[in-house]
Amino acid sequence: TRAINFSAGPAALPAEVLQQAAAEMLDWQGSGQSVMEMSHRGKEFMAIAAAAEADLRELMAIPANYKVLFLQGGASLQFEMIPMNLLAGKGSADFVNTGEWAKKAIKAVKHFGKANVVASAEDSNFNYAPKQDTWKLDPNAAYVHYTANETIGGVEFHWVPETGNVPLVCDMSSNILSKPVDVSKYGLIYAGAQKNIGPAGLTIVIIRDDLIGKGNPAPSAMLDYKTHADNDSMYNTPPTYGIYIAGLVFQWLKKQGGLAAIEQKNIAKARLLYDFLDQSAFFKNPVRKEDRSRMNIPFTLANAELDDEFLKGAKARGMVQLKGHRSVGGMRASIYNAMPIEGVQALIDYMKEFETQHGK
Ligand code: PLP
Repeated sequence: TRAINFSAGPAALPAEVLQQAAAEMLDWQGSGQSVMEMSHRGKEFMAIAAAAEADLRELMAIPANYKVLFLQGGASLQFEMIPMNLLAGKGSADFVNTGEWAKKAIKAVKHFGKANVVASAEDSNFNYAPKQDTWKLDPNAAYVHYTANETIGGVEFHWVPETGNVPLVCDMSSNILSKPVDVSKYGLIYAGAQKNIGPAGLTIVIIRDDLIGKGNPAPSAMLDYKTHADNDSMYNTPPTYGIYIAGLVFQWLKKQGGLAAIEQKNIAKARLLYDFLDQSAFFKNPVRKEDRSRMNIPFTLANAELDDEFLKGAKARGMVQLKGHRSVGGMRASIYNAMPIEGVQALIDYMKEFETQHGK
């Protein structure tokens, strides 16, 4: 009965995770309570949060000198908290403009300092990730910010920028946990949970110790990383149920073999769909091959007048949320960790059928 869900976010979660959550809904492990009903300071929930953090640390091999913060406000609040904490009073930060999400991060800086755009793909409708040798980095920048995966444009960095002593800050909202990353190369990584982690409402920040408590002037308490770091993300009530589901997703990922194993699955799924798109005379993906996202695959039909019919046919076959973002149109298949390869194959089978019917 479950749809094959290509939503960009909130996105599908592994069925096993939802089944476990359902089984534990009324009584979490003999406690007589739903996790939703537990005090965040009680021993049951403290154990759930500690296990979630430990599993995330293990999955991403997060070094001991990094704090993991479970916050709220989405990645969008991080667009503002980051400059509040790392930029205010320090001049400018460098930004790479790769599309809609990078633009939002850049725009949010203006209240706190200057965003210096060191590279941009706007010249080509954001269909590529600018190569590092074109970036005009400022050695005195407070940090360098980039968007690891543009969820709308379907552009992903398959390499990690080198920024010397300048801290690297990364919006990993839509590709965190899709592959191993070397956390030690980053000053700060942030991600809204609602794609590869769990329910919307939880935001994860992974921050190097030396970058905490550097706001000048210090931000007010709720907006200061120091407050949340000093209080183990329990300064106020954290998004308890989101943390619990995220913890189940982390356990699921460990059962899948961890991030190296999930990366292989993600490569296989993306290759299947891109190979089909590239040989098709009817469907097309606009992104430069080496920068194509493994998570979000936008594509257009040769005739946009057929978009609605395509979506209707998909829905009739149990495939939902394929409509592209309103700012770009066309279609988009988001195939995060929870999408099985069979789901991608079902989409391709339908696309073949549609092309045979409607192609020249
Ligand atoms: N950054 C990226 C790459 C995203 O895909 C999104 C949302 O979809 C955001 C930021 C904004 O996240 P939120 O809605 O959690 O504020």
